[in-house]
Amino acid sequence: MILMDIYIYIYKCWEIIGNKQYAVGKLIDGEIKEINHIMLNRQMYGADPIEDKTCSKCSYLPVCNGGCPIQRIENEFENGNNDMCTFYKDFLPEFMKIHLALKKKVLKIIDENFSQLFPT
Ligand code: SF4
Repeated sequence: MILMDIYIYIYKCWEIIGNKQYAVGKLIDGEIKEINHIMLNRQMYGADPIEDKTCSKCSYLPVCNGGCPIQRIENEFENGNNDMCTFYKDFLPEFMKIHLALKKKVLKIIDENFSQLFPT
């Protein structure tokens, strides 16, 4: 993903758009120039959860993918203290129960209104 702010700075994520500290470059004459190589490398290669000893063994990795890459970069390179873990981690059985109950309700509503929802 590539994004640009109103000052033509280029970002790799909408979470940090407008924060020039995280800009990877600037769009000038149709090309990305003034590249911040340190920031670009961090954002390309510095947030891989597979390289994290805890994440690489975690069964939630396919769901959470190691959390927000920018928060991971803050932890890794800027003495950040972000909790990267998905909120599902401690409450998955409860979330599954809620999800299934809602799904059951939605299916019932669809079933009761099928001909109105999908007229032939
Ligand atoms: S839940 Fe936590 S430990 Fe597991 S993959 Fe996500 S960030 Fe890593």
